[in-house]
Amino acid sequence: MTNSFKFDAVIIGGGIAGLFILDRLIAEGYSVILLEKNSIGNGQTLASQGMVHSGIKYGLDGSNPEISKLLVDVSRRWTEFFSGSARPDLSSSAIHSAKQYLWTKNVLLDKMALKAVPMLMNKGARKLPENDQPAAFKICGYNSDVYEINETVMDVKSVCNYFFQKYFSSIYRGTADHFQLGDDGSIRSIRCGNLTIEAGAFLISSGAGNESFGDVFKLQNIAQRRPLRQFMLRGKLPLLYGHCVSSQPKPLFSITSHPYSDETIWYLGGNVAEPVDGKDSYQTPSEIFKLLLKVFPGVKAMIGGWSTYTIDRAEAKTAEGRLPNEPTLMPHGNLALCWPTKLVYAPVLADKASEFMKKLEMPSSQKMPQQLPLPKPDLGKYPWEVTDWQPFEKEIF
Ligand SMILES: Cc1cc2nc3c(=O)[nH]c(=O)nc-3n(C[C@H](O)[C@H](O)[C@H](O)COP(=O)(O)OP(=O)(O)OC[C@H]3O[C@@H](n4cnc5c(N)ncnc54)[C@H](O)[C@@H]3O)c2cc1C
Repeated sequence: MTNSFKFDAVIIGGGIAGLFILDRLIAEGYSVILLEKNSIGNGQTLASQGMVHSGIKYGLDGSNPEISKLLVDVSRRWTEFFSGSARPDLSSSAIHSAKQYLWTKNVLLDKMALKAVPMLMNKGARKLPENDQPAAFKICGYNSDVYEINETVMDVKSVCNYFFQKYFSSIYRGTADHFQLGDDGSIRSIRCGNLTIEAGAFLISSGAGNESFGDVFKLQNIAQRRPLRQFMLRGKLPLLYGHCVSSQPKPLFSITSHPYSDETIWYLGGNVAEPVDGKDSYQTPSEIFKLLLKVFPGVKAMIGGWSTYTIDRAEAKTAEGRLPNEPTLMPHGNLALCWPTKLVYAPVLADKASEFMKKLEMPSSQKMPQQLPLPKPDLGKYPWEVTDWQPFEKEIF
């Protein structure tokens, strides 16, 4: 049996970036495989909140109109994917909510910030009359203003699963153990276990793993990581999606809700997930509970347990160490290091991958890829499916 295989392109890393790139290149007739060393979506993708931002959140500090312009455009594309009117047709994937909400801690400054954000952004946010506020707010004991914004929250696992099922025959568990160069200095093949896999292009979308691939090619200082510690609650909680806005640039907390056995998970990001003063320590669970109960006093009786989940965001390096403005594709000969920067930018990254292939002037072979004697990865799990839950003790207050 042959141990040598040939494709137009090999993608390394099966998070949202690799999956979107795979979809695009296959659509363009390339013979492509994707190697994932762990499980599909494992990494940042399934740890994300799945919020399709259209930029309102970034209007809080008014500092980056460019980010919001790109986000508006990309948010429109996702709407088309979910409605099935553009490729990839994600109409079979689940959406948790077609709307997100903005609310406050109900102190004067924060209320002013809440009012200012939608006006500043002119994004069609609308203030809800009290009677039109989702029941969740009343159930949680919240009694102030609520704005509704047309921003979707997706079920990320169902999106990953769409690609995984569709391209199952092109996805394998494996990695590039070695890169072999051709006479012209370009990468000719990789070793994956005892297999030699030749390709015209190698696209690396390994999230935090991109750094070590950069090291192989002496590309240093190309990546940055920003640590986050998401906070999770479980219990008979109502479904809620959106941001607790304050006069600070970042939301005090952002909530997404996820049905899990017969309970609901509240997955909290935003400021409560950021290290305090940029250091490696976070607000304590008791501080986070206090903040939460100040806004939503009614949830105390509903909480059954809590946990945290620590994960790094992995992106291309920026001078200030902040979030890059867009997705990055860093070409190095026929290798490309890819970071979407945000889940929602994965389609824009796929555009860049398509341009990269065209620049290499590699005709698509229009061939069905050969099958490799490699195992298949599993679909990954959400943080709340793998975490150790702590009992909720009332005395934590
Ligand atoms: C807590 C959190 C919340 C977020 N919320 C949002 C949000 O609401 N909206 C939004 O737009 N963005 C959000 N993001 C950002 C978004 O999740 C990331 O930008 C995006 O998921 C990155 O995708 P990726 O495919 O590049 O990386 P990853 O998802 O990290 O995937 C990389 C994959 O590569 C694999 N891999 C690693 N090394 C190797 C190797 N050597 N060989 C083979 N495979 C390898 C890993 O196992 C993994 O499966 C959030 C991020 C975090 C951390």
